[in-house]
Amino acid sequence: MHPDTFSGQLRDPALVSPDQSHSFVAATLELSTQGICAKPEGHPPRLLAWSGMRMRKNDGGALEFYQGGLTVSSSDPDILRVVESLAGNDLGNDISRVHGDTVSGPWRTRLGCVAFVAFCIWALVKIPACFSAVTDGVADSVPYSADETIGELADKSMPTNGTEITDPLVRGAIEVMLNRIAPYRCLPDAEFKFKVVRNPTINAFALPGGYITVFSGLIEKATSPEQVAGVLAHEIAHVTKRHGINRIVKAAGTATVLAVTVGDMGGLQDAAMQVLTAVTMNGYGRSDESEADQEGVRMLIAARIDPEGLAAFFETLEEEQDGEIPVWMSTHPKPGGRAQAVRDQVFELSSTPDWEPLDIDWEAVIERLDQV
Ligand SMILES: [Zn+2]
Repeated sequence: MHPDTFSGQLRDPALVSPDQSHSFVAATLELSTQGICAKPEGHPPRLLAWSGMRMRKNDGGALEFYQGGLTVSSSDPDILRVVESLAGNDLGNDISRVHGDTVSGPWRTRLGCVAFVAFCIWALVKIPACFSAVTDGVADSVPYSADETIGELADKSMPTNGTEITDPLVRGAIEVMLNRIAPYRCLPDAEFKFKVVRNPTINAFALPGGYITVFSGLIEKATSPEQVAGVLAHEIAHVTKRHGINRIVKAAGTATVLAVTVGDMGGLQDAAMQVLTAVTMNGYGRSDESEADQEGVRMLIAARIDPEGLAAFFETLEEEQDGEIPVWMSTHPKPGGRAQAVRDQVFELSSTPDWEPLDIDWEAVIERLDQV
């Protein structure tokens, strides 16, 4: 073999049929100044460019390289030396981390001390800021029952944006997704109610208290149930992170929101409806949207639903030309950045992908949407 050629494996969600899309296939890996060219037998080669690539050692001790939804791995110990010579700049941090794995005995302890001191300095600087962030928002000062009261009212009084689809096959598909994701929510009190609405816009939104609306346009645009489940996880995260009530508290004040818990909606109704109408049109703003992406991906991984669905859906939206971009995307100028952020998070959190496909006949769901 050429010195810069190694045997390894490739994982490409587009390579094989959906039910096998998470398994690796054998491939020859050729390293050059461009990146890693993976040549799977019987398939066209794929190039993973150094730029934007991530690297780590997996549980089995093999090195994994990840870029743009593709993963290659090799257990050849010589590959690291070649990677260092070709991609020292792009992969510097990951290379140091991989070397860190092999640091032994006293050094490891010393590194631990350094990390602890660094943490203390970070805590001294950051923790006062954390406290003020908590008091800025609603956090624990308003009970979750307020979210439910306001959400229920908003759900009843806001326009539905289309006729509700009650077909059991369509609703059943969303239910399967919710049942898989909800057990991993960070707020056990939260329960979810959803409706599917006939509307061509690619959109879904969540109101406080767990009231979720999914537009038929979103379902029709998705090529797999994992894509819709990714969006649902994002919406669930808005509920469990209480983004809606936070905004209402900022607009109307804690005392007015607390009055809701004793049955007084008087001072709040208009403010709450204004905030929530804006949210369904424009999303929750950049920082809440990012937090919902991250919390959504955390739940997907815990539920063993492949977050690649969410990443791929962000990319689909980027290609969307006809202006039917979901409103919550509009707070992010670059959906491609969100796709990459999802993939980076999966890479960080999930050492060995072990996804369990959603038990949904997606073609049948899409077909039924045409008929009802
Ligand atoms: Zn959102």
